[in-house]
Amino acid sequence: MKSIRDIYKVGFGPSSSHTIAPAKFAQFLLERYQGKVTKLVLFNSFQTTGNGHLTFDTLKKILTNIQIQTLIDKKKHPLHMEAYIQEQLVEEADSIGGGNLHIYSQEVKELVDVYPHKKFTDIINYCQNNSLSLLEYIDRFEPDLNSFLTKIFKRMVNVVEVGLKQTGYLPGSLKVSRKAKSVYEQAQKSKDKRLYISAYALAVSEENANGQIIVTAPTCGSCGVVPAILYYSKYHQHTPIKEIINALKVAGLIANLVASNGTLSGAIGGCQVEIGTAIAMASSAYAYLQGNNIAEIESAAELAIEHHLGLTCDPIKGYVQIPCIERNAIGALRALDNTQLGKALLENHLISLDTAIASMYQTGLDIKEKYKETSRGGLAKYYQEKNK
Ligand code: SF4
Repeated sequence: MKSIRDIYKVGFGPSSSHTIAPAKFAQFLLERYQGKVTKLVLFNSFQTTGNGHLTFDTLKKILTNIQIQTLIDKKKHPLHMEAYIQEQLVEEADSIGGGNLHIYSQEVKELVDVYPHKKFTDIINYCQNNSLSLLEYIDRFEPDLNSFLTKIFKRMVNVVEVGLKQTGYLPGSLKVSRKAKSVYEQAQKSKDKRLYISAYALAVSEENANGQIIVTAPTCGSCGVVPAILYYSKYHQHTPIKEIINALKVAGLIANLVASNGTLSGAIGGCQVEIGTAIAMASSAYAYLQGNNIAEIESAAELAIEHHLGLTCDPIKGYVQIPCIERNAIGALRALDNTQLGKALLENHLISLDTAIASMYQTGLDIKEKYKETSRGGLAKYYQEKNK
């Protein structure tokens, strides 16, 4: 498996696959071709949701004067990009999820593994044979994560706190109003402190929808779940920063397993791979913070994946707003439940995390294309029909 660093990327929202990865490709083209690239052709999901996901605006900020064309070609990757100088094709790339980019001419650079295992079962066996905890396993293969993850958490905190202060409408024709501040104020008056968690998730997801700089966890669309749980743990439960950083390591490992055995891209696997993975990350992080052992951490993450199998991606009009923002707020709450139930249901639990991840990937491949970041199915379809 690759580095946990690959999971947490700082970049402009609202979509890791539609803004962060294309921006990386644009930056690569700018440096390699010194402004000579004249045309980008973007395929499939970019045609249906590129506008709402702010792809074209993002690319034009980096490659000024570029001509952008969109096409549907089912034989190509759902998020394929081609760069031309006049009519000559010079580079091809795929946005492969979580802000990761596969540039065809740079293949070797993208395939560096730092962990020797890619199945959780193998990690458990290795930990047992070497008397390691899950955290000690991560530290053995990536001993230099602390300062990186400290910066990542600071950025997450900043996004939560900025997001909580905002009011008004998010960009775009849906006229979605920001709710984080209002939910936070309701939490202050409520006996149920869990409402704070939703407020934090809303704050981050609204900042993402507004195209601000956020941290992928594991994607932009699902970036509110992990910060919400960790912010709650740090500021309501007074968890030391060292433990928060360790929790980010555990969460990162879980997302790494999904990335290594499937995909983090909603355009390939549906929302289950984005929100489902984010909830698995937050569930495992919170389970770690509760002092749970490796089997209980696995169980918490597994419940998140198993019980979001089949979750479709159908953002209305291509904006990462409905259902995405509320989905983060609900997902963060589920992480608490998964932690508790993961422990309670552990005895004779038959489904492993590896099995759940494999099922999720295959389910994603089987889901009809219109439910995978095209805005042509589900809520997107019915909302647009009703509001013609
Ligand atoms: S529905 Fe889920 S996968 Fe699709 S854009 Fe929204 S958060 Fe991302």
